[in-house]
Amino acid sequence: MHNLSTDTNIPKLLKDVGLRVTPQREAILNFLIHYEGHATVDDIYQAVHPTFPGLSVSTIYNTMKHFGELGLVKEITFGDAASRFDVNVQPHHHLVCKHCGKLIDFYLPQPPNFALPPDASGFEVEDYHLEVKGTCRECRDKERNEQTQ
Ligand SMILES: [Zn+2]
Ligand SMILES: [Zn+2]
Repeated sequence: MHNLSTDTNIPKLLKDVGLRVTPQREAILNFLIHYEGHATVDDIYQAVHPTFPGLSVSTIYNTMKHFGELGLVKEITFGDAASRFDVNVQPHHHLVCKHCGKLIDFYLPQPPNFALPPDASGFEVEDYHLEVKGTCRECRDKERNEQTQ
């Protein structure tokens, strides 16, 4: 499992997973490592476009899918919203702010005991992701300030 961080040696990491080192792949990973949060393909596109104008949204999407298969990133999907890519590949869950859309990682101390209904007997849980909706502190502060003005 690769947990990307700001000290990750990107060319070495690409070689370790069997990918050729290209400036485009390096730029995408470098952006993700320094991006605070969970980037969409569009965020990545906006960031790398000035340096690599030939890199299309679909190429970036395919690259991200590939990085996901290699375990470098984790793709998170929420309903119909655009996929986001997480450099935190440890099993974790997300608090989702309904106002600004920010995702905050959180962990559960142990796998919960799934109380599966009888008609789901035999179902083997392989993966699960909790999406806990609410309002982040910044948005709550903003709301409070607006109320007091
Ligand atoms: Zn918020
Ligand atoms: Zn996350």
